[in-house]
Amino acid sequence: MSKKYVYLFSEGNANMRELLGGKGANLAEMTNIGMPVPQGFTISTEACTRYYEDGEKIAPEIEAEIFEYLAKMEALVGKKFGDKENPLLVSVRSGARASMPGMMDTILNLGINDDVAATLAAKSGNVRWAYDSYRRFIMMFSDVAMGYDRLKFEAIMDELKEKRGVATDAGLTAEDMQEMVERFKVLYKELAGVEFPTDPKVQLMAAVRAVFGSWMNERAIAYRRMNDIPSSWGTAVNVQMMVFGNMGDDCGTGVAFSRDPATGENKLYGEFLMNAQGEDVVAGIRTPQTIDQLHETNAAAYDQFAAVAKNLEKHYKDMQDMEFTIEQGKLYMLQTRNGKRTAQAALKVAVDMVNEGLCTKEEALLKIDPNSINALLHPRFDEAALKKAKPVATGLAASPGAGCGAVYFTAEDVKKHAKNGPTLLVRSFTSPEDIEGMAAAKGILTATGGRTSHAAVVARGMGACCVAGCGALRIHEDEKYLTIGDIRVNEGEVMSIDGNTGNVYVGAIPTVDATISGDFAVVMGWADSIRKLHVRTNADTPRDAANAVRLGAEGIGLTRTEHMFFDADRIPAMREMILSTDVEHRAAALAKLLPMQRGDFEGIFKAMEGRPVTIRLLDPPLHEFLPTADEDIKALADEMGLTFDYVKGTILSLHENNPMMGFRGCRLPVKYPEIAEMQTRAIIEAAINVKNECGYDIVPEIMIPLTCEFKELKYVSNIVKATAEAVKAEKSSDLKYLVGTMIEIPRAALTADEIAKEAEFFSFGTNDLTQMTFGFSRDDAGSFLPSYYEKQIFDNDPFERIDQVGVGKLVDMAVKLGRATRPDIHLGICGEHGGEPSSVDFCHRVGLDYVSCSPFRVPIARMAAAQAQIKNPRA
Ligand code: ADP
Ligand code: MG
Ligand code: MG
Repeated sequence: MSKKYVYLFSEGNANMRELLGGKGANLAEMTNIGMPVPQGFTISTEACTRYYEDGEKIAPEIEAEIFEYLAKMEALVGKKFGDKENPLLVSVRSGARASMPGMMDTILNLGINDDVAATLAAKSGNVRWAYDSYRRFIMMFSDVAMGYDRLKFEAIMDELKEKRGVATDAGLTAEDMQEMVERFKVLYKELAGVEFPTDPKVQLMAAVRAVFGSWMNERAIAYRRMNDIPSSWGTAVNVQMMVFGNMGDDCGTGVAFSRDPATGENKLYGEFLMNAQGEDVVAGIRTPQTIDQLHETNAAAYDQFAAVAKNLEKHYKDMQDMEFTIEQGKLYMLQTRNGKRTAQAALKVAVDMVNEGLCTKEEALLKIDPNSINALLHPRFDEAALKKAKPVATGLAASPGAGCGAVYFTAEDVKKHAKNGPTLLVRSFTSPEDIEGMAAAKGILTATGGRTSHAAVVARGMGACCVAGCGALRIHEDEKYLTIGDIRVNEGEVMSIDGNTGNVYVGAIPTVDATISGDFAVVMGWADSIRKLHVRTNADTPRDAANAVRLGAEGIGLTRTEHMFFDADRIPAMREMILSTDVEHRAAALAKLLPMQRGDFEGIFKAMEGRPVTIRLLDPPLHEFLPTADEDIKALADEMGLTFDYVKGTILSLHENNPMMGFRGCRLPVKYPEIAEMQTRAIIEAAINVKNECGYDIVPEIMIPLTCEFKELKYVSNIVKATAEAVKAEKSSDLKYLVGTMIEIPRAALTADEIAKEAEFFSFGTNDLTQMTFGFSRDDAGSFLPSYYEKQIFDNDPFERIDQVGVGKLVDMAVKLGRATRPDIHLGICGEHGGEPSSVDFCHRVGLDYVSCSPFRVPIARMAAAQAQIKNPRA
């Protein structure tokens, strides 16, 4: 039997979304539960895929099947294409699995021609309606199927409206409509070089081809990438009998939500336009009535609709977003789908629906987009003010929130001025030295760099808003001003940036603080009671740690010790250590760092109140701590009593061509064991001190980064253990501690069985693991990845969502190998992926014990972990 490509609405159901697209599956479902849906059929997404396989052609057997289903539909509705008595008009509607605004627009009234229009006019006695439908069809077909400029058609209509002195199409007469049809046909012939197609079947096939073709248009490709929709899915095409909202004043068309999508309030919310068709409501050509006004003008129709809306909610167990048409008092449903909503509304709807007994907690949780929670945790711009403001540029929405303040171009200037009022840090890009400025600013704006650039990662970690990669931005750091096109903003002048949209504004937009409502706590409570995956945080300071605990973190999965060394009062000792000529000097410098580092750890242990804390030994290449400008080098040399040439020489000798694959991570203590000794001592002493002082049962987890070989790990781990034991003996303490490693080099994953002999835990550092598995530098990939999306080689950024196929295979392998050697090995992930929902789902499925992410992503991870458990229950 040959493959089936076309389905009547009565043959489908809501579970066939992959095959029929979202719109088609829901039309089928509504048909089968007895809702008033105009009949029709769906051409499947597989037909679209096939269209591309066949070189952008519709195969003859598929065309034949379409016509076979057309005949079935004609029999069902008792109307026929081009018929003299009862002509059938249809809409042709695209519909992918996920709703995609970038796709082809719908064509209405297809099947109409001169004869059909005359028949419709004669049979109904409504000439205006017949030719209104006709002119709409010519314009939509020309625009949507043929790609001609819609404005050329609209110009004709505008001219007519002006001539008649009417403001909207509602004021035009039957004769006007007829004149418009004639002029549209002439225009079409000018544009196409041939007459407007009169054969409904020719019209239909052209429309179907246009829908398939629109799957690969630029808008659609861009939308798919932003929303993680694979290009292999294809779109379905729905062919549906027309019902008419444009037959008079007992007719109309509307869109409505079953609950308020902004607040979640349980009340119909929507708009309705009398004597109108299709897109008129959203196109804004006339001012629509609210759905409440429909109640006043047509109570019967309103009641029908309200009842349908309730039933659909009950059926789908979710808030619905619906399209409907009223034809001469009778209601028809044209679309339903689960409604998009604000984060606030999502929480309220979830809590209300569980209370109303409409769904279970599990079902309610699955309706919440974990990423949307982000919006609840950051200050927002005042909605009304934002609407009025006009962006001057747009960058990447790198870290959510609203930032408004005086602009400064160095971290130092930001720090200086932050005391006097809100500031924004504006830089070409940021580096670790900018940390304090970033923390002091209300927001960070950069000209280059992607969503995983330093600025973006750090900003998300701090919960600061960030717009990165704003290409239009030019910074004149020395002259202290910036330009965007011909707009100039001087240092100290106020700008606003929106980390949710990437928009950049000149001037101040008022902000409002995030409110965490009661629903939020209720829903997170459900998530926590369900999930099996633990959620920790990446935090380097007591402040971040405390903040993460407030957001539900159960421990720290990554404390980066290097950030602590960038502080102005510490970096001299750090530099002294690096520039030391021998072990004694190095040890002396390290001795200065010891109390500072111990203090840091004490602060973190206290903030975590006995929750687990993983501390990573020094990781970055040493030259990151050293100055680059000659005058800074000179100052440093003077300070340390060394010659300029010596210091400069050392700095040059530390230069690496490929620092990310250079002298860093556990390679540092392999050459300089003293560093690991100092850090271990600081950790163990801090743990013992805080345990004694506060009584917390602390078991520090000491993590060795960048391991690639068992013997290498063993060497460093021996230093750590010897030091820890010595400190314990000095302090007569029986403190327990763990020594583990990061798995972030492919060789470590491949030899995880060996590594697990020494490591008591693994933490997958998926930033480096992704970088090294792909061989892409994270800092440079931004320059070529866009071509990969354009050419459909990648659907999304592997630094944002874990690459489950490749990197994921390494993780899975390392989990199995590690557990084979050490069944109770503790496993987690600390890369940026740890707070990304699809990656959290992956971590759940491969059986990790926890994910660790930046503090503000903790609630997202908790939610994603609960959803993962609901979808794939794990013991
Ligand atoms: P979109 O996905 O852009 O909303 P739709 O295919 O849903 O596109 O249709 C656009 C508009 O046309 C909607 O208002 C819809 O209700 C209306 N429409 C679609 N098909 C029909 C039909 N068969 N009869 C009447 N109106 C229709
Ligand atoms: Mg629609
Ligand atoms: Mg790393």
